[in-house]
Amino acid sequence: MSEQRYIYDLAEGDASMKNLLGGKGAGVAEMARIGVPVPDAFTVTTTASVETMKNGGTWPEGLDSQIDAALARLEERTGRTLGGATRPLLVSVRSGAVVSMPGMMDTILNLGISDESVVAVAEESGNPRFAWDCYRRFIQMYGEVVEGVPGHVYEDALTELKRERGVEQDTELTAEDLQGLVATFKELSEDHLGGAWTSDPREQLHRAVDAVFRSWQNPRAEVYRRAHNISSELGTAVNVMQMVFGNRGDTSATGVCFTRNPSTGEKALYGEFLINAQGEDVVAGIRTPRPMAEMEEILPEAYRQLIDTMHRMETHYKDMQDMEFTVEDGKLYLLQTRNGKRTAAAALKVASDLVDEGLIDQKEALRRIEPGQLDQLLHPAIDPAHGKAPVAKGLPASPGAAVGEVVFDADTAAERGGRGEPVVLVRYETTPDDIHGVIVAQGILTAHGGMTSHAAVVARGMGKPCVAGASGIRIDTAAKTLTIGDKVFAEGDVITLDGSTGEVYGEALELIPPQINEDFERVVEWADEVRRLGVRANADTFEDATKARELGAEGIGLCRTEHMFMSPDRLPAVRRMILADTPEARADALEEILPMQQADFEGIFTAMKGLPVTVRLLDPPLHEFLPNLVEQSLLVQRLELTGGDEGELKAARATLAQVKRLHEQNPMLGTRGCRLAMLYPEIPEMQTRAIIRAALAVKEREGETVGVEIMIPLVALEQELQTQRSIVERVVAEEVGDSGLEVLIGTMIELPRAALTADRIARHADFFSFGTNDLTQTGIGISRDDAENGFLAQYIIDHVLERNPFESIDVDGVGQLVEIGVEKGRSAKPGLKTGVCGEHGGDPDSVAFFHGAGLDYVSCSPFRVPIARFAAAKAVL
Ligand code: PEP
Ligand code: MG
Repeated sequence: MSEQRYIYDLAEGDASMKNLLGGKGAGVAEMARIGVPVPDAFTVTTTASVETMKNGGTWPEGLDSQIDAALARLEERTGRTLGGATRPLLVSVRSGAVVSMPGMMDTILNLGISDESVVAVAEESGNPRFAWDCYRRFIQMYGEVVEGVPGHVYEDALTELKRERGVEQDTELTAEDLQGLVATFKELSEDHLGGAWTSDPREQLHRAVDAVFRSWQNPRAEVYRRAHNISSELGTAVNVMQMVFGNRGDTSATGVCFTRNPSTGEKALYGEFLINAQGEDVVAGIRTPRPMAEMEEILPEAYRQLIDTMHRMETHYKDMQDMEFTVEDGKLYLLQTRNGKRTAAAALKVASDLVDEGLIDQKEALRRIEPGQLDQLLHPAIDPAHGKAPVAKGLPASPGAAVGEVVFDADTAAERGGRGEPVVLVRYETTPDDIHGVIVAQGILTAHGGMTSHAAVVARGMGKPCVAGASGIRIDTAAKTLTIGDKVFAEGDVITLDGSTGEVYGEALELIPPQINEDFERVVEWADEVRRLGVRANADTFEDATKARELGAEGIGLCRTEHMFMSPDRLPAVRRMILADTPEARADALEEILPMQQADFEGIFTAMKGLPVTVRLLDPPLHEFLPNLVEQSLLVQRLELTGGDEGELKAARATLAQVKRLHEQNPMLGTRGCRLAMLYPEIPEMQTRAIIRAALAVKEREGETVGVEIMIPLVALEQELQTQRSIVERVVAEEVGDSGLEVLIGTMIELPRAALTADRIARHADFFSFGTNDLTQTGIGISRDDAENGFLAQYIIDHVLERNPFESIDVDGVGQLVEIGVEKGRSAKPGLKTGVCGEHGGDPDSVAFFHGAGLDYVSCSPFRVPIARFAAAKAVL
């Protein structure tokens, strides 16, 4: 049996090998294949990393010798030797996951520089300072990343040397200074490692590859993967590439550029570069780079070549590219290309433009759109009528507006943001270590770094507003202050960011909902042409229904009626209804509530006329409408102790008795849904009357009404639905008269028993709507009110579960209940209309599942409607 192959040379790969070579490895191989200048390289496959992970960190058989052989081939092709005293080869060792995870894993540059080769590097470049700077950078990076020497060990020595020399910038240190620093760095490393420092470049290469493997599992990469639903089992490839130097002098440079503007999607040159710098300087945001347009003057030949290459790459990949390049002594090299991350607005514009340019068709355009990302378009913006002047301005790094209290470190952001408090994370610059704070912050403000800095890239990907490189602000992390001009903001003070303009305001401004633009309208229509699933909205007010319709909802899949009972002006009548001693007294109270209910329904039906509306009859337990048990007990005690008014005490005691009577230890499994209606049939009777009267009133007034669908909640037993249906049917018959109004009567399937006996339930139902919130709660047996703040969060961190099942459907378990429900329901009633109205109806992955399960529609919150429309189209493609 031949040995498993773990390495591919540059010339052996191509774009189709992304799963094996990672995005970066496949990308450079493809560039080389089509003749774009890239430095020579080889790639260690993702399989090697996965097998190493599985073996608890031990490399698979043969990897060691394959690396040596690949290095020998690279040395032969380049005519150079790793660490050689003449014509030395220096390489970079970079991670390269299948799905890009910017900055989350480790990289080692300049590997191959050593006591032997540094002199040759100095001679070849004619620049000893450059050679020694490479060497000290290498020790620093290798020491930190591979050997785990704390970064401050080197930083402190560097700072001390600058202090001794009386200089401020690293660039002011001489070659001799840096040579001395290399010696110091080596001593410090040896001290720290107890003499175990290795200086053999070949051994360093092996250790560097291993460190990159390990970095797949570092905490920030794990956090990033969780936030982006990237499987932790994929592993990373490792790219070993000949170094080219953007820091060899003033005819060298390094930069990042996009073929289109990743914020707006406009077809315009976009990017940044730094003269005499290494790639990491741009990405890390440590020096503020210059806009691409300036490169034309400074490095005209390389610029021309770059523009040429950009056009070629875009036509080749038929998508916007994000490219890293280096110019070494005037010669251009591409180090990486990938499909550029972009805002939702840019994604739509690029997709729409590429169709117009004939590069892709409409279906391909839809495939390119990440439905979840469209949330960004639905983000608020600052109300233009605010009339306030910004206090600072930075780069508009990621669009949308954010209002929040300033915090100065990611841990505080994570802690407070995790509690649901709106915070804005303010940092000099962000690093991948800040990711947990970035995820929960409303927005990000940095003092330093460009549009391609870490903060900008990460925030854009998440659709989070970000203002980067606001150089006019001063941050004192120790004192926890942000100084803008003469104003000092302490932790907890509120600011507003406009990530679309880069402006920062020193107070909370009003935000307005975002506008949906023409590109959106155009592309979402393509989605509508393709999708099979209907998309409705969950809405229970006129305003929500109007918004939902605006966003393309094709009806209402769930109108929850309980909020109508809870409004303060109705609560007294509702309480009287609950506390009534006789059916007559209850009927009187309900009579009072009926016109109010009717008015609510009229509003919703007017907004939705011409479309179907599913109204769900009352669901929550009655005690929710009564005072809290503890509070009422305390009130009675207080009145007793203070000897207060007799009448008041009597009433309080009566209420307490009722509260106790209705109190349940486990109300979510208690007298709610149709169980309540079984005990108090007057309630569904009144609600049905209100629904039908509203539908008829709207028909009379508007000439058109809605498709009325009445839905019975929390059914577990056939008998429950049969009884409830007969109540509703009777009232419908009484109210509809000869108006011709058609009414469907259906049920929610939100309990496992209902799903399992769906054939029997279907006999009494005109439609099913899966309530996947309760179905998840009861199917997995986890409380929808508590679990997410408790063990569930830990389960996700520990990978017991990959996703929160209340957010994205648990396909294997709860999903099966849905499938069984559909199948059994339709076995009894062919063609039975089925939908879903749990929160999952707006989650793209769940929508894909519901499509596959054969549902007719999903129903979700109004702002998720566009996302569901795209997700439903993607499910078909
Ligand atoms: C459900 O359980 O999925 C549902 C839609 O009902 P509610 O969330 O109101 O319980
Ligand atoms: Mg429910």
